[in-house]
Amino acid sequence: MRTARKQTDDGVFPVTGEARAVSLFRLILGFMAVVMLAFVLVEGWRIWRDYRQVFINAENAVSNLSRATAQHAEDAMRQVDAITAALSERLEGDGFALIDRPRLHALLKQQAQIMPQLHGLFVYGADGSWIVTDKDVVPANANNADRDYFIYHRTHADRQVRIGSVVRSRSTGDLIIPISRRLDHPDGSFAGVLLGTIKVDWFVRYYGDFKIDERGALVLAKRDGTILVRRPFVEQVIGRNLSASDIFRKYLPYASEGVVEAVAVVDGTPRLYGFRALSSYPLVVEAGLSRESILAPWRHDMIKSVLVLLLLLIGLSGFGWIVLRQLRERIVIERALHQAHQTLKALALTDSLTGLGNRRRLDAVLEPEIRRARRQGSALALVMLDLDYFKAYNDRYGHPAGDQCLRRFAEVLRQALKRPGDLAVRYGGEEFTLLLPNTDAQGASQIVQEILAMLRRQGMAHAGSPLGQVSASAGIAVGAPTVEAVTPENLMAAADAALYQAKRQGRDRYCLAAGEVGMQQ
Ligand code: GH3
Ligand code: MG
Ligand code: MG
Repeated sequence: MRTARKQTDDGVFPVTGEARAVSLFRLILGFMAVVMLAFVLVEGWRIWRDYRQVFINAENAVSNLSRATAQHAEDAMRQVDAITAALSERLEGDGFALIDRPRLHALLKQQAQIMPQLHGLFVYGADGSWIVTDKDVVPANANNADRDYFIYHRTHADRQVRIGSVVRSRSTGDLIIPISRRLDHPDGSFAGVLLGTIKVDWFVRYYGDFKIDERGALVLAKRDGTILVRRPFVEQVIGRNLSASDIFRKYLPYASEGVVEAVAVVDGTPRLYGFRALSSYPLVVEAGLSRESILAPWRHDMIKSVLVLLLLLIGLSGFGWIVLRQLRERIVIERALHQAHQTLKALALTDSLTGLGNRRRLDAVLEPEIRRARRQGSALALVMLDLDYFKAYNDRYGHPAGDQCLRRFAEVLRQALKRPGDLAVRYGGEEFTLLLPNTDAQGASQIVQEILAMLRRQGMAHAGSPLGQVSASAGIAVGAPTVEAVTPENLMAAADAALYQAKRQGRDRYCLAAGEVGMQQ
C-alpha cells in the first residue's frame, strides 16, 4: 500500500547574493547610525562640559573682582576713619576754645595731600559753621547744619564713624561720600562734626581699570542698599536703593559673601554676581558679569562645533546614501537575476507542450529518490506509459490533434497523482514516466489502473486503433533499495521491459516487471 510520506524540498535554500546584500545593507545602516550617534554624543558632552567650565571660570572671576573692590573700599575708608579718629581725639583733648586754626589748617592740608582718595577734611561747630578745613578759601557764611550727617550727629550721641550717602560738595562741586564723627564737649554735649570726604571719582577711576565688558557691573553700596558708586557710571543711579534686590533681600542677611545669578535692579540685565559685605564698615560691594558676555565666547564656539558636526553628519549621510543606494541597486539586480535563474531552471525542467516535467527533471530526482528510499527502507515505483498506435493517430488526425491528445493525457496523469511527492514527466514523444516514492507494486498498479481507466473514459476516438479509441500501455517497476541494488538504469530498464510486455500482450494494459528489480515477490 502507498503510505503517506512527508514531502520535503530536496534543495537547500541557497544563501543568495540578494540575502547577502540585504544583510550588508542592514549592517551599513546600523554602523552609520552608531557612528553618527557617537559623534553627536561626544560633541554634546564636550559642549555641555565647556558650558559648565565657562560658569566656573566666571564664578572665580566675579569672586576675585568682589574681593579686590572690597579690599580697596575698606582701605580707603580705614585711612579716613583713622585720620578723623586722631583729629577728634586731638580737638576734644585740646578744647574747642583753644584751637590754633592756622596750625590745624596746615595739618589738614598735609593729610589731604597724603591721601589721594580724600576730597577734603572739615571741622564744623555746633551751629554748623565752618571752623577749619584743609581748603585755603572758605566760602563766606558757609553753614552745613542742614546736611544729613550733621543733623544725625547732633541728634545721636554715638561716637562711631558714619558713612553718609553721596552728596555734591559745596566747596568744589564734586560728588563725594561723607565720612563723619560727632565731636563732644567734655560734658558730653554736642560740640560739632568732624568730616572727611572721599571723591566718588576716586572709585570710578579705580573701577574703570578692570577689564570687564560694558555689560559688566561694579557697585559700592551702603549696607542699607543706597548706591555710592557704580560702574558703568551714570549719575542718576547714584543714591538709588538696592534693598529690594535679591542679593540684599535673600543672601546678605545670611552670608557676608557669595556668588549668585540675579537680574540687576538698575538695568534689568541678568548677571552672575560676586558680592561681599565689608568686615569693618557697613558697606557692600557687588561685581557682576552679564550672562550674555559670559556665554558669548562659548556660544560662538558651540555654533562652530555644531556647524562642523552638521557638515560631518551631512557628509556621512551623503556617503552612506550613495553606498546604500548602490547596494539597493545591487539587491534589485540580484533579485532579478535570482528570478531569471529560477525561471530558466523551471523552464529547463519543464516540457513545453504539456507543462509536465521533462526527462531532465526525472534524471535530476531519480537518484536522490532512490537514496532516500534506501535511507527510509521504503519501496519506490517507476512507471513507463506509452500511447498506443500514436503514429497512426498523427497520420489520421494530424500533428496538432496529436499534440492536443498528448496534453489531455498529461492532464489525466496530473489528476491521477495526488501526493506531492509523486512526479509525472513527459519522457519524450508519446512516452511518459511516473516516479512514485514510498509506493509498492500494489499501490503503483492501483494508480496505473486508474490512469488507464480515466483515459478510456475520455473516449477520444482513434479510428486507426483496433480499440477504436485512444489508449495507453504501461510497465511498472518497483525497487526496494534496502534489499536489492537499485539504480536509475536498472529501474528504467525493468519498467521499459514491462511496457514492452504490455504492448506485446495487446496494449491498453499494464505489466509489472519481475526479477531483480521489479515486482516484489
Ligand atoms: P505503439 O502502439 O507500438 O506505441 O505504436 P506507436 O505508433 O504509438 O509508436 P511509434 O514509436 O511507432 O510512434 C510514435 C509516434 O508518436 C511517432 C510520432 O508521430 C508521434 N509523436 C512523437 N512525439 C510527438 C509529438 O510531440 N507530437 C505529436 N503530435 N506526435 C508525436
Ligand atoms: Mg513510443
Ligand atoms: Mg506508442
